[in-house]
Amino acid sequence: MIKNNCSILECYNEPDYICCCEMREVYVCKDHLTMHMSKEVHHNVKKNFIGLSPDDKEILSAHCESSLKRLKTIREHVSIKARECINKILKKLKDDLEIINDKYMLIIEVMEYLKQKDRVLFKNNNSKCEKFIVECVKNPLEFYDKLKKKELEMIEELDFEQRENILQMKILKLSERNKKNYEFYEYFAS
Ligand SMILES: [Zn+2]
Ligand SMILES: [Zn+2]
Repeated sequence: MIKNNCSILECYNEPDYICCCEMREVYVCKDHLTMHMSKEVHHNVKKNFIGLSPDDKEILSAHCESSLKRLKTIREHVSIKARECINKILKKLKDDLEIINDKYMLIIEVMEYLKQKDRVLFKNNNSKCEKFIVECVKNPLEFYDKLKKKELEMIEELDFEQRENILQMKILKLSERNKKNYEFYEYFAS
């Protein structure tokens, strides 16, 4: 285990050296190195640090500078991409809300119609409301089922994780198909 200070009792200096003697690693500071070496055993002293020459520091600083630049660029790219995604989601939300609102207004209109009239006359230019009533009379559950389907679609498209899962499933299926094709060609090529 690496130690944070000199092994000599009550010395809290940094351990500059490690000596592998006496079947264990001894950590000593530069003040206690001579004292440690005075014991007559086989010492094997190593530096417990890596020195940084002016050249090393220059090179490292240059690396740090370019990493900082890169990080700034990445930060910009990520922010732009995120903003694009947020805008797409907001646009999608706006479109969805418009669709929902249209349907809402249509239903209100239908309810008004039902209060006032008791038939729909077939004409060349039946209104949306009249067409809707005719369809509903023929198949009363259809609209409700369509709404449920629409809701699922809307949520699915807004849901990032779900979209990612669907995409991954598609990729997996595609790669399995490619693998099969490859095996097929390999069989005939051999
Ligand atoms: Zn010491
Ligand atoms: Zn030693």
